[in-house]
Amino acid sequence: VLSASQDFDFFYFVQQWPGSYCDTKQGCCYPSTGKPESDFGIHGLWPNRNDGSYPSNCDSSTPFDASKISDLTNQMRSDWPTLSCPSNNGLTFWGHEWDKHGTCSESVLNQHAYFATALSLKNEINLLQALERAGIQPNGQKYSISDIKSAIKGASGYTPWIECNNDSSGNSQLYQIYLCVDSSASGFIECPVFPNGSCGSSIEFPSF
Ligand code: 5GP
Ligand code: 5GP
Ligand code: 5GP
Repeated sequence: VLSASQDFDFFYFVQQWPGSYCDTKQGCCYPSTGKPESDFGIHGLWPNRNDGSYPSNCDSSTPFDASKISDLTNQMRSDWPTLSCPSNNGLTFWGHEWDKHGTCSESVLNQHAYFATALSLKNEINLLQALERAGIQPNGQKYSISDIKSAIKGASGYTPWIECNNDSSGNSQLYQIYLCVDSSASGFIECPVFPNGSCGSSIEFPSF
C-alpha cells in the first residue's frame, strides 16, 4: 500500500520584520489591501530535517487553492502580508509557500490546516511585544543580537534564530526570526538545528 511519508523532522516557523524587507536596495510594495501594521508578519512554516536539509515542492497534484482558505484570508491579510512587488493581494505569496513548503507536510496538515496552524502559532508568541518589553524597539537603533535572543527566550521559553539582511546603506539589520515547531505541528520546541548565516554582534531594528 502507499503510505504518506513524512520526510521531515520539525518545522521552522519564520516571521519577517516588514521594515527590514522594505528598506533594502530592492525595496518593497505594500499589498493592494493597504500598508500592513508595524508588526512581524508570517513568512512561512517550513518542514525541515535534523541534518539541516529540507524537502520542497513535494506534491504538484495538490496545488494552492485559494477557495479552501476563504475563511482565513482576512486574518492572513494582517498576519501574513506580502511585501513583494508588484503590489498584489497576497495570494501569490501564500500560494508559493503552500506549493514549495506546505505540500511537504501534507501528511500532517492539509492546506486549510497549514495556514490555520501558522496563524495560531503567531498568536501564541508575540515577538514584537517580547522585544518591546525588553526595551528593544523598532526605532532604527542598534541592539545586540544576544539581547534580542534573550528577550524572546525569556518571553516564550524558546531560543530563536535571527536572520539578518542589509539596509540600502549596508547596515546589518533584524530581518527574520525563526522558531521551531514539532513534526506534528502541535507546538513550539527547541530547535534541533539552527540555520546558517551571520549577523554583526549589533544589528539595527528599523522602523516600519
Ligand atoms: P534564502 O536563500 O533567501 O535564505 O532562502 C530562500 C528560500 O529557501 C526561503 O524563503 C525558503 O523558502 C527556503 N529556505 C531557506 N532556508 C531554509 C531552511 O533552512 N529550511 C527550509 N525548510 N527552507 C529554507
Ligand atoms: P521563499 O521561497 O523564500 O519561502 O519565498 C520567497 C518568495 O516569496 C519569493 O519569490 C518572494 O518574491 C515571494 N514573496 C512574496 N511576498 C513576500 C514577502 O513579503 N516576503 C518574502 N520574503 N518573500 C515574499
Ligand atoms: P554565541 O554562540 O556566542 O551566542 O554566538 C556565536 C556566533 O554565532 C556569534 O558570531 C554570533 O553572532 C552568532 N550567532 C548567535 N546567534 C545567532 C543568531 O540567532 N543568528 C545569527 N545570524 N548569528 C548568530
